[in-house]
Order: sequence, then structure tokens, then C-alpha cells
Amino acid sequence: MPELPEVEVVRTILEQELKNLTIKDIFIYYEPIINGNVSDFKNALLNQKISHIERYGKFLVFVFSDVVMISHLRMEGKYYIKDKLDTTKHDHVVFLMSNGKFVHYNDTRKFGRFEILKRSEYLKKGPLSKLAAEPKDISFDSFYQAIKKSERAIKTLLLDQQVISGLGNIYVDETLFLSRIHPLKKGSRIHKDEAKELINNAVKVLNKAIKLGGTTIRSYTSSLGVTGLFQNELYVHTKEGETCPVCKTTIKKIKVGGRGTYFCPNCQVNTKIIGLTGGIASGKSTASTYILSKGYTVIDSDFIVSNLYQKNQEMLSEIASTFLIDTKDVTFKEKLAKIIFNDNNKREALNKIVHKRVYMMIEDELYKHKNEPIIFIDMPLLFEVAYQKKCDQTVLIYTTREIQLKRLIERNKLTKVDAKKRINSQMDINDKKMLADVVINNCDSIEKLHQQIDQFLEEINK
Ligand SMILES: [Zn+2]
Repeated sequence: MPELPEVEVVRTILEQELKNLTIKDIFIYYEPIINGNVSDFKNALLNQKISHIERYGKFLVFVFSDVVMISHLRMEGKYYIKDKLDTTKHDHVVFLMSNGKFVHYNDTRKFGRFEILKRSEYLKKGPLSKLAAEPKDISFDSFYQAIKKSERAIKTLLLDQQVISGLGNIYVDETLFLSRIHPLKKGSRIHKDEAKELINNAVKVLNKAIKLGGTTIRSYTSSLGVTGLFQNELYVHTKEGETCPVCKTTIKKIKVGGRGTYFCPNCQVNTKIIGLTGGIASGKSTASTYILSKGYTVIDSDFIVSNLYQKNQEMLSEIASTFLIDTKDVTFKEKLAKIIFNDNNKREALNKIVHKRVYMMIEDELYKHKNEPIIFIDMPLLFEVAYQKKCDQTVLIYTTREIQLKRLIERNKLTKVDAKKRINSQMDINDKKMLADVVINNCDSIEKLHQQIDQFLEEINK
């Protein structure tokens, strides 16, 4: 199947051969290949001179003085330039040019399409209007926003011509390999720096492929006398069972959105994110410490929050101006707690200021540890802020309200009334139990807690 580099090679050759020539006759053997009325198509092009040929993604655009002819090669579209009319079974359109040559459009699967549009509006109407820019031209922000808001696999997103254009199956696999990103990683989990790497690597891969005349794989060989050589440069695509050139791990093949997808399971890890939560005094911290001791990365959201309050001047000044409070005052956090305690609007305003920064720092941590297959995020208010949607699995350290109360009174030296107040300020632990994927019961001894965690770790590593 032709991809951007192959179409670019075709464009270069066609432009060299056809620029400034006039179309003298058109023979159409398979009418459905023309979008719109066939005689309108002929009338629009007859005696028109080709000014130049453009390419957008995988679309070729023949530009005339008033109109353009868009040619979408799809799966198997090819051009041949011949000295005489010499059609085969799969030639569907032939153009006679003013130099006496015949341009044959050949398409074994008949998926290709031609369309005439006015030159003044072909980028605003028709198929090109929906096309995103290609890697070398795309604005980083529009690309990053498009993938960030999506839960689709990054492989599928990179193939979507409305997200980024010109990347087909071969070049997406190569780009993901060079960026060390698993093809199934969700768009929403792509870190900003990874998005930058994706664009840079896509540009590199495509430029190199264009230089080498594209890739000649199976069905698509350039009909215009050019044999692509990029297949000799492939790292992973079509390399199932061979060893990764970086780490020697065996390259795997999977299906993503129906497309054969090749990757190195060691270089391209799709981290499983596990949210760890509990109620107040339910033993979550004990569990978290134990998981950490087993060699897992545990991202501690409380630690991130307290770090932000200590060091993030931008956040502190946003809090100062929103709540008219002096953040340099040593008792500022108690004052802030009082302000938001009985005011839901103010609590939400504060959450908005703090949470977006916490999430960004969690993303940075995940990016730092992107080669680890399993990472835990320890977050007390995980369900309250609906963070479960960003996790693959959630684990609740559960204990009864009675034990919570008893531990809180002993540990924090609180009165029963104050302890109850603290417990009631959070979502009820029994509601959390309903939301969690895995519940670890911590009503018994610490040994029992450790045992259950061991069992869980064994389970997720299977
Ligand atoms: Zn590898």
C-alpha cells in the first residue's frame, strides 16, 4: 500500500514528466472511480494544462488554472506513463497528454478515487479539508490536544488522517519504535515530551523513506521505475520473530484496530497503572510502604501536594489572589482549610488550582518510569476526584468504620467527635468498596495485610 513517502516519490516523477503538458483526451473504463459526474470530469480537464502537482498526506493534487484533480491512491493505485494506449485489466483511466504520451491509472482493487474541485476552494471543501497537517507541518499544540483527549490507542491515532496525516501502517510502527512507545498506549497517557518525540521521529522516518524512494513491500512497487529501498532500513515492521536492534528481545506482532502491528515488548512498554486508595486510617500507607519495599514505583500524591505547597510559587500566588490570603503566613494552610471547609464552591476552586498541577506531576513521574510494566499511584481521594478513569485497576485498602474510628482516635489523639468529623468529610468507605476493582481487607493483623498484597502482586504479574 502506498504511504506518504511512496506517494511523494510518485508526485516528484509525475511532476517532472507532466508539468506544463495539456490533457488532450481521457478514456474512462471504470466509471465509479470518478467521484461525481463523468462527463463533467472530462469537460473540466480537457485542454487544460497541468501547472504543477501537489501532495497532501496520501492525496495527489494535479493543479490546473481553474480546477484541481484530486487523486487518492488508497490501497493499490499506481501510475504508468506509456508511449501508446496499452491498457490491461486493471487500468481504469487513461489521459492522453500533449506530448503524445499516455498516462495510465492502474488499480487492482479499484479503491482509488478521482475528484474535481475548484482551485479556489479545494483546501476548504472535499477530502483535503478534513485532513490534518503532516508531521513536518503540524502544530504541536493541535496534535498534542488531539491525542491527549483520546482514549484510543496511539497506533490508531497516528493512523487517523484527521489527527496527523501521511503516516501509514509501516511508518507508524517505525515511529513508535524510535519513540519507545507501546502501540496500545492510550492517547490520554502520552506525555508532552513523548508527543514531541513522536513528531520528530515521524519526520525523520518519512524523510529517510522519501530519500530512499519509499518502501517496496509485497503488493506495492513503484510503477514509475523507482524501487523503494526503505524496507532495508526497517527496525520492527514485518520483523516478527527477529531480534530488536536495540535490546535483542524478540519482536512481536499484534493486531491494533485490525492492522498488523510490530513492536519490541522490552523497548516499548505499556505501563499498567494501579490506583491505590483507602479511607482515612484504613492502613493504605502501610500497604504503600510494603509495595514500595517489593521494588515497585509508588507515586505518592500526598507527597506531591505538600511539595507543591512548599515550592510552587505560581500555584501559591494563584491561591493568594483567589482567596485573598497571605500564603507566607505560617498558619496559612489552617486558614485556607477553614475558608474551604464549609464552602463547596471555594473547595472546588482550590481543587481546580491544585489538582491540575498534581496530575501534571504524576504524568511527569509516569514518564520518568515509562519502562516499568507496573506503577502504583497512591491517592487517598482517588474516587472522590474520579481518578479511577486514569487507572487500569484500583485497589482499596479496606477496614470497617469502627476500626477506622478507633485507629484515628489512638493515632491522631483526636476526640471521638473530631475523629467522626474527619471520617465523614471523605466518601464513605463502603461506597469506595463498590467502586474498587480489588478490595484488600485490613481488619486483621499486618501479616494478613502483607499476605494479601503478596497474592495481589503475584496475580498482576501473571
Ligand atoms: Zn528492544
